Amino acid sequence: KGKRAFVAGVADDNGYGWAIAKSLAAAGAEILVGTWVPALNIFESSLRRGKFDESRVLPDGSLMEITKVYPLDAVFDTLEDVPEDVKSNKRYAGSSNWTVAEVVESVKKDFGSIDILVHSLANGPEVTKPLLETSRKGYLAALSASSYSYISLLKHFLPIINPGGSSISLTYIASERIIPGYGGGMSSAKAALESDTRVLAFEAGRKQRVRVNTISAGPLRSRAAKAIGFIDMMIDYSLANAPLQKELSAEEVGNTAAFLASPLASAITGAVVYVDNGLNAMGVGV
Ligand code: NAD
Repeated sequence: KGKRAFVAGVADDNGYGWAIAKSLAAAGAEILVGTWVPALNIFESSLRRGKFDESRVLPDGSLMEITKVYPLDAVFDTLEDVPEDVKSNKRYAGSSNWTVAEVVESVKKDFGSIDILVHSLANGPEVTKPLLETSRKGYLAALSASSYSYISLLKHFLPIINPGGSSISLTYIASERIIPGYGGGMSSAKAALESDTRVLAFEAGRKQRVRVNTISAGPLRSRAAKAIGFIDMMIDYSLANAPLQKELSAEEVGNTAAFLASPLASAITGAVVYVDNGLNAMGVGV
């Protein structure tokens, strides 16, 4: 029987979430996506108007189908957590049931269960500031959107992830090596995400036989990465210094996610898997 995947963090066709959805679809999975509320209208209308059709083409020539798009804001667990100003914000008031608990409830009502959970989202309001200049508020916001959001999604989805299922997030080498420019507590958020991957692998493995892994991806010119401001430099640096001197394609990360979600990876859990042309293994640039 085909598997069902929920991919959180898809709002256009340029990021890792989209590429992962495509690889999973190519492998036969049914795709549900969670789209950040403020980006929902433009994503859905672009999808409807065929703006993504070229990037929807799968290796067999068919188009990736997204069975359902759920509005999601992963910094809120339940409706009680949502402050008034967000509730009354025009973009948020226009849709409903977008807190993590409500999204999971909707997926449960619509489909009963899933097999694959993908977390491909991050946000750090002060990402362009060095850590020494990051405010407490900015730091905690980065951790809330980029790290706790994963704990919350897995916690709420776990009861409806079929045993043998798999959960995947996206991380970045700035968690363990100094990457100047990846600021605002985003390096801290990725360190937390990687540590949590190990603890959650234990807990979800014992509880539900669900595997938990994270992909440490190399640089990609996504919308989020462009907002950080140094993405072209990181791509050039990788091209110059990585063992494999080629540009990294989002599809290579998508294919790794499909592998990790498949029975081929049935003994892999709690792992940080590098998909970065090997750049992580270098000690100095050459
Ligand atoms: P992206 O812009 O395609 O994806 C980020 C998504 O997060 C966006 O769709 C955005 O709408 C969503 N988002 C932000 N805040 C949210 C919230 N509160 N609730 C729900 N959704 C929210 O960019 P991307 O670079 O593909 O990022 C995907 C993942 O890959 C992130 O975890 C990122 O840190 C990681 N990553 C990216 C790179 C890179 O170079 N692009 C490298 C390593 C890891």
